[in-house]
Amino acid sequence: MKDLIRIMLEGAYSNLKRIIFASDRVTDMELRNKILNGQIVPTEKVAEKPCIGCSGCANVCPTEAITMKKLDEPVELMEGLIKDQIPVLDSLKCVTCYYCHDFCPLYALFGEAGTIHPNDVGQVESDISKLLEKPVKISEDKIAFISQYLADTSILKKKSFKR
Ligand code: SF4
Ligand code: SF4
Repeated sequence: MKDLIRIMLEGAYSNLKRIIFASDRVTDMELRNKILNGQIVPTEKVAEKPCIGCSGCANVCPTEAITMKKLDEPVELMEGLIKDQIPVLDSLKCVTCYYCHDFCPLYALFGEAGTIHPNDVGQVESDISKLLEKPVKISEDKIAFISQYLADTSILKKKSFKR
């Protein structure tokens, strides 16, 4: 009991400024006002133009935070490669594991920035037709490992590595 009182007093002491002045809530209010005034805009999670629409990110997401949306107009990225869907990331379901980015083939196979990111995808400038012609500089084993995740929508269930 004595220990409990001591812990409570220590906690109250170290949080004194926060308790008396509500100092942490001041920051929250600033943030809230900035959001309400439109000074903070949500970041982009998907770079739609360079994304090749392979749906690998949706396959590897452990929380089903990514869904693939059909494009109204399919895009020919290069001869024989048509993009007809792009990912949409629902931040409310995201646990920020970065699998989507790390398995995105642009990053995993070609070492370029991935075209999806749970925080902010930033500016991705890859020229896809040139990029896809580049040799892949990783081992066959690694390519096989990555490919199974990119291609198989039930991979997470099979590996019992999910939800
Ligand atoms: S970072 Fe978020 S969206 Fe990406 S795979 Fe993980 S849970 Fe899914
Ligand atoms: S894994 Fe990368 S290239 Fe494939 S759909 Fe997702 S963001 Fe686009």
